[in-house]
Amino acid sequence: MAVRAADVVKVYGTGETAVRALDGVGVEFAAGEFTAVMGPSGSGKSTLMHCLAGLDAVDGGSVQVGGAELTGLGDRALTRLRRERIGFVFQSFNLLPTLTAEQNITLPLDLAGRRPDPAWMRELVAALGLQDRLRHRPAELSGGQQQRVACARALLGRPDVVFADEPTGNLDSRTGAGVLEFLRRSVRELGQTIVMVTHDPVAAGHADRAVLLADGRIVDEIQQPDPESVL
Ligand code: ADP
Ligand code: ADP
Repeated sequence: MAVRAADVVKVYGTGETAVRALDGVGVEFAAGEFTAVMGPSGSGKSTLMHCLAGLDAVDGGSVQVGGAELTGLGDRALTRLRRERIGFVFQSFNLLPTLTAEQNITLPLDLAGRRPDPAWMRELVAALGLQDRLRHRPAELSGGQQQRVACARALLGRPDVVFADEPTGNLDSRTGAGVLEFLRRSVRELGQTIVMVTHDPVAAGHADRAVLLADGRIVDEIQQPDPESVL
C-alpha cells in the first residue's frame, strides 16, 4: 500500500513561538519499499511519521494512505485504517505497564477482535529474541527488550504499512542487525511499505532508499544507501 505526502505542513504552537515542524514535505513510499528517514534532531522526522500514520493532523497539504486521503476520513474510518493496515513502532515504545510483553504484543489484534496467527507469533517472537520474556512486564525488561516488544506489536497483524521511529536505537549492533534483517524479509515476503526513522547509517544501509530531512523539508534522497557514505 503506497503512502504519499504532498506539501505537508505541521505547525506546533501559535504566534511568535510557533514551530513549523514540517514545511512543505512531498514524498512517496511505494508498496514493497523500505525507506529510511534521516536528518538531524529536530528536523521533523517523528512529526512526519505521526502525520503519515494519521496520529497527528496536518495543518496543510495532504497525506494519502492506500489512496485514502487522511483528512477526508472520519474518526472511525481513520481508527479502522490505523488498526487494520498500519503498524507503528513508537520511539518511546508506548507499552502498557500493567500488561505482560505478550499481552502488549497481542493488544492491537485483541482490540480489533482478531486472533494472532500462532505460527507467525512464534516466528516473530523468536526472530526478535523475546521467547524468554513474554511473561515479563515492561518494567522488568531492558530498554532494548521493550523496543523489540514494540516492534513485535507493530508487526503481529502483518500490516500493509509499518512506521518505525528509531526501532534499533536501543539495541546493540548485532541485535539491531537481526531486527533490520527481519524487517527486510517482511518487506520482501509481504510486500509491505516500511518507513523507518534512524540516525544510524548502518541501519539505513538495510533500506532501499534514504530520504533526508532538514528544517522540516526533504533535502535529499539516496537510492541504495551505502552505510559508508550516508551523512
Ligand atoms: P527526537 O528528537 O529524538 O525525535 P524528541 O525528544 O524531540 O525526540 O521528541 C520526543 C517526544 O516529545 C515526541 O513525541 C515529540 O512530539 C515531543 N516533543 C518534541 N519537542 C517538543 C516540544 N518542544 N514541546 C513539546 N513536545 C515536544
Ligand atoms: P525529530 O524527530 O527530527 O527530532 P521532531 O519531529 O521531534 O524532530 O520535532 C520537529 C520540531 O518540532 C522540533 O523543533 C520540535 O521541538 C518541535 N516539536 C515536536 N513535537 C512538538 C510538540 N508536541 N509541541 C511543540 N513542538 C514540538
